[in-house]
Amino acid sequence: MLKYLFIETANGNRKMSYNLCDYNTVNRILKKYGFTFSKAMGQNFLIDDSVCPAMAEELGADDGTAVIEIGPGIGVLTKELCRVAGKVIAIELDKRLYPVLDETLAEFDNFELVCGDVMKIDIKALIDEKLKGFEHIKVCANLPYYITSPVIMQLLESEAPIEEIVVMVQKEAAERLCAEMGTRKAGAVTAAVNYYGAAEVLFEVGRESFMPSPKVDSAVIRISLTAGRGYEIRDKKLFFSLVRAAFSQRRKTLVNSVSSSLSIPKDKITDALVSLGISETVRAEKMTMEDFAALADKLL
Ligand code: SAM
Repeated sequence: MLKYLFIETANGNRKMSYNLCDYNTVNRILKKYGFTFSKAMGQNFLIDDSVCPAMAEELGADDGTAVIEIGPGIGVLTKELCRVAGKVIAIELDKRLYPVLDETLAEFDNFELVCGDVMKIDIKALIDEKLKGFEHIKVCANLPYYITSPVIMQLLESEAPIEEIVVMVQKEAAERLCAEMGTRKAGAVTAAVNYYGAAEVLFEVGRESFMPSPKVDSAVIRISLTAGRGYEIRDKKLFFSLVRAAFSQRRKTLVNSVSSSLSIPKDKITDALVSLGISETVRAEKMTMEDFAALADKLL
């Protein structure tokens, strides 16, 4: 298998282009920098040469597209994104990877590394500061699994001009994100996805596609943010507090979990449910978006 090749840059210099799906090449790079995988940072690097090109293709980027990647690792997906997009900004927390990325992505001049924790970065401000003039802004990542839902919630709630999010997540998380409200797989993040857009599973990826191999399989999903379903919600903050409270103890009835989480008297919630024709023993997973919206309005 081809391990690396040289590419000629615009000024005639030659730069190394690595095959970051080649096991020996990756091992050599990791050894050179003394890198060891951190479980705490969710480090499972893609090593399957069919996955990253497929993700980049699903993203449908062109010169007018800027892509934000979360957690580039050693740059395997980043490379594919740099090939198709006008600009790629990658946010990476692990300092040990900065010199690695310097080397593995040296051939691209449309790449910028942002050092830090994605959960502490204001994505809207980042876009305003660095991506002015791009027609389309998209997010693509093999997400660190320990923060899948918080990252997606943060992206959705940022109300940044992001059109589309194509991300790899654990299979169970994909099922939750793409579930229909009112079904057993739905959760608080499902409501957020439904409020801001629509999600679909694109393809599944087996655990053997990663280094090291995780204990679970994964799936790539698309969340389209231009496809907002326009739910009428009067108080968005209350709506989402209600949804979060309802799902916080999903085995309990909605009355009990909302009452204990939001300190609302049980009879007030029961009266609101009954007036809406919803059973007073309903659980969060049986509630539709419309049910939650109507209940939030009643509790205003
Ligand atoms: N994109 C690479 C790939 O597909 O091989 C790496 C994906 S690995 C699942 C997750 C990456 O996210 C790692 O590089 C990890 O260091 C980084 N990461 C973990 N927590 C992060 C955070 N809070 N902010 C930014 N990056 C983070």
